Amino acid sequence: MVRALNLGFPRMGANRDLKKLVEAHWAGKIDEQALIDGAAKIRAAHWKIQADAGIAAGQIPSNDFAFYDQMLDHIALFQVTPARYRDVAAKAGASVNELKTYFAMGRGHQNKDLGIDVPALEMKKWFDTNYHYMVPEFEANQTFSLASFVKPVAEFKEAKALGITTRPVIVGPITFLHLGKWARAANKESAAPASRLALLDALLPVYESLLQQLKEAGAESVQIDEPILTLDLPTEEYKPAYDRVYSRLGGILPILLASYFGRYGENLDRIVKGLKIQTLHADLVRAPEELDALVAFAKDAHVGLSLGLIDGRNIWKADLAAAKATVEKVLGQGLPADQLFVSPSCSLLHSPHSLAAEEKMNPVIKNWLAFAVEKLDEVVLLAKSLAPDTPSPEVQAALAQNRAANQDRAASKLIRNDQVQARMADLKDDLFNRAAPYPVRAKEQADKLKLPLFPTTTIGSLPQTKEIRMSRLKLKKGEMTEQAYDEFIGQEILGCIKKQEEWGLDVLVHGECERNDMVEYFGERLDGYVFSQNGWVQSYGSRCVKPPIIFGDVSRPKAMTVRWSKYAAERTEKPMKGMLTGPVTMLQWSFVRNDQPRKLTTYQLALAIRDEVVDLETAGIACIQIDEPAIREGLPLRRSDWATYLEWASAAFRLSAAGVQNATQIHSHFCYSDFNDIFPTIQSLDADVITIENSRSDLKLLKAFEQYGYQAGIGPGIYDIHSPRVPSVEEMKERVDAMLVFLKKELLWLNPDCGLKTRGWAETEAALKNLCTVARQCREAA
Ligand code: GLN
Ligand code: ZN
Repeated sequence: MVRALNLGFPRMGANRDLKKLVEAHWAGKIDEQALIDGAAKIRAAHWKIQADAGIAAGQIPSNDFAFYDQMLDHIALFQVTPARYRDVAAKAGASVNELKTYFAMGRGHQNKDLGIDVPALEMKKWFDTNYHYMVPEFEANQTFSLASFVKPVAEFKEAKALGITTRPVIVGPITFLHLGKWARAANKESAAPASRLALLDALLPVYESLLQQLKEAGAESVQIDEPILTLDLPTEEYKPAYDRVYSRLGGILPILLASYFGRYGENLDRIVKGLKIQTLHADLVRAPEELDALVAFAKDAHVGLSLGLIDGRNIWKADLAAAKATVEKVLGQGLPADQLFVSPSCSLLHSPHSLAAEEKMNPVIKNWLAFAVEKLDEVVLLAKSLAPDTPSPEVQAALAQNRAANQDRAASKLIRNDQVQARMADLKDDLFNRAAPYPVRAKEQADKLKLPLFPTTTIGSLPQTKEIRMSRLKLKKGEMTEQAYDEFIGQEILGCIKKQEEWGLDVLVHGECERNDMVEYFGERLDGYVFSQNGWVQSYGSRCVKPPIIFGDVSRPKAMTVRWSKYAAERTEKPMKGMLTGPVTMLQWSFVRNDQPRKLTTYQLALAIRDEVVDLETAGIACIQIDEPAIREGLPLRRSDWATYLEWASAAFRLSAAGVQNATQIHSHFCYSDFNDIFPTIQSLDADVITIENSRSDLKLLKAFEQYGYQAGIGPGIYDIHSPRVPSVEEMKERVDAMLVFLKKELLWLNPDCGLKTRGWAETEAALKNLCTVARQCREAA
């Protein structure tokens, strides 16, 4: 009998209950006991959902819960707490306050009176998701030991007391070390071993005693997540490490080894082969092509397979008939049914909780979707459909419903737009290229814009005050008329213009005060997008995002930003920069349709933005910025897949930008400074001006720009907007002088790091005035 299995459940709860609970605790509204009790209730509810759905005993995960992050849980569990956090709890007057230390690592802790001031641990994106994990920090002579509170054991017992047998989930030791980093001090010590795998000797015994304790508590197996197996790994080093770890751990408890988000690729043969595991989980949504290799591997190694056929990363209903056919094919190849599982492709952590709360969504579209709760039903239904005896009438009816929903979606007029299809069928090469090369354009732009040397600008958004956010809320609730809201926005923009003129900026922005979010604002104005009310997904800590859903061909029924940009441009003599979100970023930060390649969806977005760009130009806007902060994060996990992605990502940007005349200046902005791997791509975007984050990184980056012979305008942020600190004139001038060692003065723009949305007006005014002073000094010196 093929069984249903789950790898992890979203933590936040139906109404972001965990977020509310944790934030109430941080705000001092509930004490630690209330936090702990509240969390136990959430866990109990989630186990019950899974058991009720029909996930069998032993196949429901535990320890997938975390107050902040699962990697942080392991940092606490193995007592890898860096020294600077160790006295936080004591200073804060708590005796043994594990949670205080835990949250200090997660979000930093500042209390001047008590002499506490520690920033959070570094946070990084979890593979190619929008989830962020806390990065473990290791000393050269790092030791590991189990904390007195052994969370995986405690949660296993907690579920057991509720009558539910779970399979504990832990992050595997090699992934834990791989995703960590050396503490700065360790780095300097010449004694620091080169590879973090050198710490395995110290770490492995701790995993052994953890598994031993789980076994003693009654666990029958354990899920060990090793998602780095989806990355390129140096086999010579990692193979012996994996062999060692799994021969020892596999002797204690049967292991379900899970990797996800992509293929095992060569790691299957070179690393996974020979490991002492009971079952291997594979992400067959991302890597369906790997099925045959997996089956051959499983047969050879006498290992079970967990077939991740239900997409844990997207929100579409599965095609259960196709999934069933896949499993039947596997059965036909001689793998015994009792060694086969069907499962979500990855932990459901990356899916919104449930569709139940979606009351406003078009019911036709809602019927195409499945969030985490519904995905569990799919997994169970798939397993039932594979039972040897004839499926029950209920199962047959549910399967028929699934088929009907998918057929309805495929045939729906809602997803197709003939005009878009016609344009897509006719994407001629010249649509992707500006009319003239940069030097020609630069000259025409200079004639038109008449900018001084060292032109100053900002990245787009100016402080979003409480008043602005309140007005938007009132408009939404119907407590403010559209007319009153528009008047208010008009006044705000006017205020932004006056301030920028007074401070002496050269290329102005309207301030983006009419926008809630840089993706949502455009998604709401494009056809082919739908919004959920409650489709929240954890991003980091208590933070959740609610990605819009692209369900069909994307088109622009009417201009999206022209009104306010034009309004602003008409109220100043200075050039006004139009402000748009680029196609790749629109794609990256949305749930994307899975019935056509991502590339095509991105091109459709690009066409819609292209029309907006042209309309802005027609309305008299001479500088247009197309933000692409997400190009880098879209990079595939495997290097061999990069070139294909980068090629279409760059093409999509050019498609969105290339509709304008030579004299119109296209800007783009990137929220990072790590260009090493994607330099040629940034160059290939062929923007007239790029602004990048640079204030916190060193000048090596600019050297790379010099080496690559970058010849267009560039604004490496000269101050950090992520803190309220106001940089002095001297400090910024020094940065600019340092930049000029590498960059020609004719190319350099002066601007902050990123948008100023989250800053207050006082610090913004002080910083931008200083920035304009620096520009004047530079011009005098030039
Ligand atoms: N124009 C946007 C802003 O200033 C850019 C933000 C971003 O790149 N994340 O807010
Ligand atoms: Zn930015």
